[in-house]
Amino acid sequence: MNNEQLWQAVLGELELLISKANFTTWFKNTFIASLDGENLVIAAPNAFTKAWLEKKYAEQIAQAIKNITNDSIKKIGFIVETTKQAALKQSVDAVTARVSATPLNASEPVEANKFGLNKKYLFNNFIVGKGNELAHAAGRAITEKLGEAYNPFFIYGGVGLGKTHLVQAIGNEVLKTNPRLKVLYINSEKFTNDYVQAIKTGQTESFKRLYRNVDVLLVDDVHFMSGKEQTQEEFFHTFNALHQNNKQIVLSSDRPPKAIPDIEQRLVSRFEWGMTADITAPDLETRIAILEAKCQEKNAALDRGIIEYLAKTIQNNIRELEGSLNRILAYHELNNTIPSLESTMQVMQAITASTPKGNLTPRKLIEAVSTYFDVAISDLTGASRRKELVNPRQIVMFLMREEIKSSYPSIGQELGGRDHTTAIHACNKIHLALEKDEKLKNDISQIKQRLYHQ
Ligand code: ADP
Ligand code: MG
Repeated sequence: MNNEQLWQAVLGELELLISKANFTTWFKNTFIASLDGENLVIAAPNAFTKAWLEKKYAEQIAQAIKNITNDSIKKIGFIVETTKQAALKQSVDAVTARVSATPLNASEPVEANKFGLNKKYLFNNFIVGKGNELAHAAGRAITEKLGEAYNPFFIYGGVGLGKTHLVQAIGNEVLKTNPRLKVLYINSEKFTNDYVQAIKTGQTESFKRLYRNVDVLLVDDVHFMSGKEQTQEEFFHTFNALHQNNKQIVLSSDRPPKAIPDIEQRLVSRFEWGMTADITAPDLETRIAILEAKCQEKNAALDRGIIEYLAKTIQNNIRELEGSLNRILAYHELNNTIPSLESTMQVMQAITASTPKGNLTPRKLIEAVSTYFDVAISDLTGASRRKELVNPRQIVMFLMREEIKSSYPSIGQELGGRDHTTAIHACNKIHLALEKDEKLKNDISQIKQRLYHQ
């Protein structure tokens, strides 16, 4: 009996003793790492599983082994070891969650704070570079002259570029110098949901009172209000009430006010009243500076070469940059090794390889584009030729062709039974436009990042 057969036999016994859920959770990806005479070492895919096996199942495992090998094995040990990429990714994910949460209290739910602010987003851990210089300077200026300098202050930019961080930093800074002020942070999705709830329960008065009585109102992701007429109406009045009283309003969105689809003109014009600043993707130097700052925060030392490699690999999304750093740190902590450029590249490759490029389906693609542009799936596959739908729809077709290699007829089919010539036209059009349209390039790269890295 070789090691594998032996372990299969042991698992077979254990399966009868342990509930199915527990069995799958704890014994998936385990194997015999070595069997040296009397000493048997069992490999677990990560430290948590190893600890759990040692604590909860050591006896049962020993018994099963004894039954099968007639006492020839005297000692059983456990180690962390992975062979499969999937197992590697799984264990890294688990520790990443923990590394990400330290030392800042990132797991603290934002809403738990009375004002919706999260203490981890501050000016002093916001790295300034070319892409966010203006937004940062304006944000700072606001905290010094509330309601006077720029009102409203409107920040826009792509996913993961630091909008929420900056909006929150403004709020935290205001409270630091004026702890008595009422600062309220809300995501516009929550604003919308709360408003709908208030209507349902007849509590619109208290809803109004809450938002109209603050000194600083921070509303994140206002593009979410697109197409939500009642919410826009309510927000319009909230905005006016605050603005008239010189109360500071800060807004963020994934695009400039004019480009938000289905939003009332009077709101767009108000959004443009004060100061508008965009945040663009950080350049290489900024990405390096961000990684260095995050390492310092986590008390981790990484060689310059590793940092540069990460900064070069991930270019368009700071959240992802941070995520990769966390994975690298987690991996090495888990394995008790010092990060080298080589091991870093291996982890990054394992992560990218195990992201399911092959599992990408037309449906997932449509969903990703729908979320990114905040348009309904039914609109993407529907008949309307509204301008704000045509572009996302063509992007879906282009990505189906490029990423899934779908045939033109099947692309047309997926998008509500359109003709294959429509699909050909869309793909050609996006192809050509990509050569000069920077925004389109960015949109597509962001969508791909979401498809493959989240
Ligand atoms: P957005 O709201 O634009 O999608 P976030 O503000 O959530 O992006 O930023 C994503 C992550 O990147 C957060 O963890 C944030 O702290 C970090 N981050 C973004 N910009 C910076 C920056 N300039 N310096 C340091 N960290 C940043
Ligand atoms: Mg955000």
